[in-house]
Amino acid sequence: APIIVWFREDLRLSDNPALHAAVQQDCPVLCVYIHADGCEGTRPLGGASLWWLDKSLRALSEDLEQLGGRLTIRAGDGSACLDELIEETGAKAVYWNRRYGKAERDIDAAIKSRLKDRDIDVQSFNGRLLVEPWVLKTGSGGFYKVFTPFWKALRDCYSPPAALPRPSSVKGPQPDTLKVSDLGLHPTKPDWSTGFDAVWTPGEAGAHARLKDFLEGPVDTYPDDRDLPGKEDGTSGLSPHLRFGEIGPAQIWRATIAAMEAENIQDAGGWKFLSEVAWREFSYVLLYYRPDLADENYNDDFNHMPWRTDKDALKSWQSGQTGYPIVDAGMRQLWETGWMHNRVRMIVASFLTKHLLLHWRHGEDWFWDTLVDADPASNPASWQWTAGSGADATPYFRVFNPITQGQKFDADGAYVRRWCPELAKLPDKVLHEPWAADDATLNRAGVKLGTDYPHPLVAHKAGRERALEAYETLKSQR
Ligand code: FAD
Repeated sequence: APIIVWFREDLRLSDNPALHAAVQQDCPVLCVYIHADGCEGTRPLGGASLWWLDKSLRALSEDLEQLGGRLTIRAGDGSACLDELIEETGAKAVYWNRRYGKAERDIDAAIKSRLKDRDIDVQSFNGRLLVEPWVLKTGSGGFYKVFTPFWKALRDCYSPPAALPRPSSVKGPQPDTLKVSDLGLHPTKPDWSTGFDAVWTPGEAGAHARLKDFLEGPVDTYPDDRDLPGKEDGTSGLSPHLRFGEIGPAQIWRATIAAMEAENIQDAGGWKFLSEVAWREFSYVLLYYRPDLADENYNDDFNHMPWRTDKDALKSWQSGQTGYPIVDAGMRQLWETGWMHNRVRMIVASFLTKHLLLHWRHGEDWFWDTLVDADPASNPASWQWTAGSGADATPYFRVFNPITQGQKFDADGAYVRRWCPELAKLPDKVLHEPWAADDATLNRAGVKLGTDYPHPLVAHKAGRERALEAYETLKSQR
């Protein structure tokens, strides 16, 4: 009887523990994807994620076909679809790789117990994390709430399990299936994804190409270049591939360690890169222990925060029209490519929550809809980190200065000139604060402030002071 391998956030064939275990059994294997988006309390995917999923499922289907198999696609409630497939194929087992959100864990636990009652063998595996959230504990037995000791513990204890080969063939029953196109995943209203194709190759092959390119060059300068948004390929660009499990963190770990051991890359870059991968792990610890991470302040002092309501300001932020070039460049990069550089994510998030004093949830939601790497753990954890309400967060009084951040990390203006072309002819000296340019300079650059490019939504000093005052009120309420 066949074994069902239920693919979810692990859209790859190599180093896939559930698939590998099924193939080892020497019986027919039925590879299944069930589109149950938004079912039973799970968070519906954002538009950019749906775009990625569409392409990723196509890639997985093609890869399976090359191995003589097929991806069987269904839509609807996961439990009901599995029941139908068991009925149709006589499957005797269901294997999957684990998920860590609360709703997903509840769904999986309920399915597992129900199927076990019917003598269906259910096995689950870790295909998504280096170390699952419950493994590493602090000396007092709690979970890690601070990144540095978490990273130290992870680095000291982790050694990756042996790599699992890509199966040489995956054959099994072929019950009725939907086509990927039947799922209607591609965003349509509005379709802002036209620029994504130029940047991304969703799927397992695309993921490995990224990793290879990164380890063959940029990783050595990563400790410095990772903060420079204008630098092409300064970071790996692996985040959406990791998000959909087209590559696993253990694969990244093994490849990076091997490159360091072979002295193909320097230790400084290799370890810095792995420590960033560990931030993703840390975010999953937070999500696991605080399942409401995307909805509630991790630090409930922030429940009293006097956030403002200002729809126009939110809209200006979303559309990259705040009047701060580095912020606007970031928001436009996000819209055009589905991705934003990490340094700029921090700057735009600080600007929204501090200068504009708008709730971090507005930003988290926008990122959720527009990022191709929108992640249920890393996105809310990073938003709360920037807002100051999160675990191991930036101190509340740290208000990024969007002018000096721009001058420091985009000193030659390559990033701003790329994403805000209307400012391209301004000299470096005023590029990050166009309002400081005199009329002659603006004229020469062909920039009319208020027409070609907006005046700042709020002056830096006034925004900073308003934020600090609001954050002060939290102290008095403690
Ligand atoms: P690299 O620098 O090449 O890093 C390698 C991998 O490490 C990344 O692919 C990612 O998986 C992980 N990583 C790196 N930095 C972080 C971090 N700070 N937190 C968690 N994981 C990290 N990352 C997401 O994957 N999804 C999100 O939804 C997301 N939302 C964010 C929101 C805000 C406000 C901020 C400040 C950061 C957010 N990040 C998120 C983290 C980070 O910006 C991205 O992981 C990174 O920019 C991805 O690019 P890369 O793959 O080239 O990263």
